[in-house]
Amino acid sequence: MKPWVIGNWKQNPKSIKVAQALISDLLRTDNRSLLSQCQMMVIPSTVHLAKVADTIANLEPNLSHGDSATLIVKAAVADNPLLRLGGQDISALSAQVGAYTGDCSAAQLKDCGAAWVLIGHSERRQYYNEEEKVLQKKLQNALSEQLGVIFCVGETETQYESGDTLAVITKQLEVLTSSLPNELSQDLANRIIVAYEPVWAIGTGKVPTVEEVSTTHLAIKDLLTGFNSQITDPIVIYGGSVNADNAAQFAQAKGVDGALVGGASLKADKFLAIAQAFVK
Ligand code: PEP
Repeated sequence: MKPWVIGNWKQNPKSIKVAQALISDLLRTDNRSLLSQCQMMVIPSTVHLAKVADTIANLEPNLSHGDSATLIVKAAVADNPLLRLGGQDISALSAQVGAYTGDCSAAQLKDCGAAWVLIGHSERRQYYNEEEKVLQKKLQNALSEQLGVIFCVGETETQYESGDTLAVITKQLEVLTSSLPNELSQDLANRIIVAYEPVWAIGTGKVPTVEEVSTTHLAIKDLLTGFNSQITDPIVIYGGSVNADNAAQFAQAKGVDGALVGGASLKADKFLAIAQAFVK
């Protein structure tokens, strides 16, 4: 499996122009060989998504152009082999449209060119109290619109220190296992990524040891394959202060299929250096 290298831009950058410049840097001709060796994705702010999709479409010669083909272009962007697009959040209330001020649905995200969505990120859990029921609805809405899901799990520092990592993650994964259909197609199984992100490692510069990450990833894989025999090769990526200097150690760790990168994904050279570490 080609490694996944996913950039979560969070509430960055400040302007669409900067977001577009970042895409242009990533898609420079001399980066394309690297991009083709991994599965790279960017997850911009929802308000930047459509423009970012258009930028990718304009830079990617294999895609159709022109106003009349907007939908085709967007669908193609969603599955762009060089640079995939994801969204940071979707409404729990409706997968389509409705009177839900401030929300953005799975269908709207898809229409803007996203093929994936983050669900369960610790910042959503922490600042918006997103817990089991809400996450379950988001997951169902994403799946009903055929969006791939990057489902984030991870323990707090206190839970880590008291040795509760696996218990916490097992509970968090119940959202996923309880929402997936019993008859899971291979296509659907391929569209589920679990991101192990210790809360205490996000944006702090602190990271678990490679052995700890490996042990946790292998345990997550066991849990998922045990849940459903159709999940034969679950994708589990690591997130939390991954940077150009430490990426190689995670890239070599057993059970690590890629990285979810926050801060270091906002500079093309740093993000590409992480990708390089994973394709070696
Ligand atoms: C994240 O928010 O998913 C993340 C991993 O952030 P950072 O890389 O900045 O720790």
